[in-house]
Order: sequence, then structure tokens, then C-alpha cells
Amino acid sequence: MNHHRSLLGGIEAGGTKFVCSIGHPPDEIHATERFPTTTPEETVRRAIRFFQSQPQLPERIGIATFGPADLNLNSDTYGFITSTPKPGWSHTDLAGCIQRELHVSIAFDTDVNGAAMGEYLWGAGCGLKNLLYLTVGTGFGGGALVNGRPIHGLVHPEMGHLLLPRAEGDTYEGHCPFHRTCLEGMATGPAIQDRWGVAAEELPEDHLGWIFEVHYLSHAVVNLMLTLSPERIIMGGGVMQQKHLFPAIQSKVLSLLNGYVQSPKILEEIDQYIVPPQLGNDAGVLGAMALTMIQ
Ligand code: ADP
Ligand code: ZN
Repeated sequence: MNHHRSLLGGIEAGGTKFVCSIGHPPDEIHATERFPTTTPEETVRRAIRFFQSQPQLPERIGIATFGPADLNLNSDTYGFITSTPKPGWSHTDLAGCIQRELHVSIAFDTDVNGAAMGEYLWGAGCGLKNLLYLTVGTGFGGGALVNGRPIHGLVHPEMGHLLLPRAEGDTYEGHCPFHRTCLEGMATGPAIQDRWGVAAEELPEDHLGWIFEVHYLSHAVVNLMLTLSPERIIMGGGVMQQKHLFPAIQSKVLSLLNGYVQSPKILEEIDQYIVPPQLGNDAGVLGAMALTMIQ
């Protein structure tokens, strides 16, 4: 037993499911519960009940949430999910409800900032204080750590809506309701499915769709590298299950940079620079717990 370490809680608040855990992450997790995201009342109630039913309450709880969320500690709506299209969830005081019921301190951040913190503490970005975590799934999300802390900013970064040049030969009209052909509109799972009429997981490895995918993801990676100068980039999410994307993105990124950024980490070790996540199945809730450990 690790009596010297705080007992921590985590809530991965996802658009389709919630995952709650309690324990000493990453190895000693005492209990975990998953349940579908229904109404805010019912879902938040189940999360609260999970912690109340444990032998001991955690000292701190990290919440890693879908967005958009208000992360500004000085705002009246800090801890809220703000303007989500998810029915019923707009303007939900997620952190406040849980804090008022359980009386423990809460760390509240986006799911991708949680994932970045988890990978930084225990996974593929271990000890790298300037780290970028990207997920390519139903949406595209990005969480960036600068000096070991997630970037928040005015609202929070929305890397999924980067505007990128169109791939040669790609006539797809784009999927984003706001910008049509932004990164999310062109390169997420639903965009692939909509463009080709088959799910991304069914698209053969030699399909033109993957050339387009590598184009968009590599442009995004290059823009983010040039902006944030991360020490490593972790790429996860359903679409990145296609392992052939990694070498293709690595080499496209090198060719787009064209030797400009003179770091051996990029020029000589790109396969260690753009990598998959390491935390696996419980990454989301471990990320939530990791949020309680921001220095
Ligand atoms: P979410 O983004 O909803 O949290 P995922 O990261 O699993 O969940 O993303 C789901 C998307 O990823 C779907 O659009 C699906 O088509 C796509 N996807 C899931 N598995 C694969 C796979 N093995 N190869 C390619 N695409 C996949
Ligand atoms: Zn967009």
C-alpha cells in the first residue's frame, strides 16, 4: 500500500460514456465504473454515487471532459460545459455539482488535456514537459502541455478546426458545420465515412483515402510543431489504429518541413517523435486523475 500517496479520483466525462475510477494511479486502481452519458442529472448523479459508495472518498478528483468547457478559474461559469450541441448538456455545471456533493477539491480540464497529462506522467510522453497529444476519432482534439501544464488560453485550444490546404484531387465538400473543410471537416472518422461511403476501419490500406488523410494530418502536425515546438507528439484515437499512418505521417512531416527545424529529434528520430499513446484502454480516466497532479 502507498499510504504516502493521496487517494485520487478521476472522471472521464465523454459524450457517449462516463468512466469513474478511484485509487493510486497508474497501477493501483481500486475501482472503476463505466456508464452511458444520458441526461446531465442522471449521469452526474451516478458519478457522485460511485464515489460515495467507496470505503473512502478521494482527496481530489480530476474531471476530463468533452467540450466546450469553461476552464477559466475567474469565470462565473468555471467548471461548466458551455455550448455543446449535445442535447441537454449546454450550460451544465459539471465540476460545481460534484464539488458541492462530495466536498473534495476538483481539477477540471478538457479530455485531451487530461490525456496529455496522463501520457506525460505515465505514458508515451514521460517527463516531456512540452508535449502535444492529438486524437483523431469522431472529432479531432488536441491537448498541449507547455512546461508541464496544459494550455488554456482565452477559451481553450480548438486544434480540430485548423484550416489547411486541400489535398490534390480531393473534391470532398467537408463535414464541419462551421468551416466545412477544416481539419475536423476533412480528416475525422465521420469525414472519411462520408467521403468514401465506408467506415474508416473498412478502407483498405492502399486506398487513396489514406493519402488524403496523411496530407491533412501531416499539415496539422507541422503547423502545431511550428507553433508549439513540442518535444514529442502523441497521436491516438480510433483512426490512428491504422498503424500504417505513422510512418506515412512521419515522412510527410519531414518533407513538408524540408529541413527547416534543425533538431536531431526531428531529423534523425522522427519515429520516436510522432508516436502512439501508451496508456491504452483506461487512458481517459487515468488522464482525469493526472489532472489532479498538475504542479
Ligand atoms: P471517439 O472519438 O468517439 O471518442 P474513437 O476515437 O474510437 O472515439 O473514434 C471513432 C472513429 O474512429 C469512428 O469514426 C471510426 O470510424 C474510427 N475508427 C475506429 N476504429 C478504427 C480503425 N481501426 N481504423 C480506422 N478508423 C477507426
Ligand atoms: Zn471546423
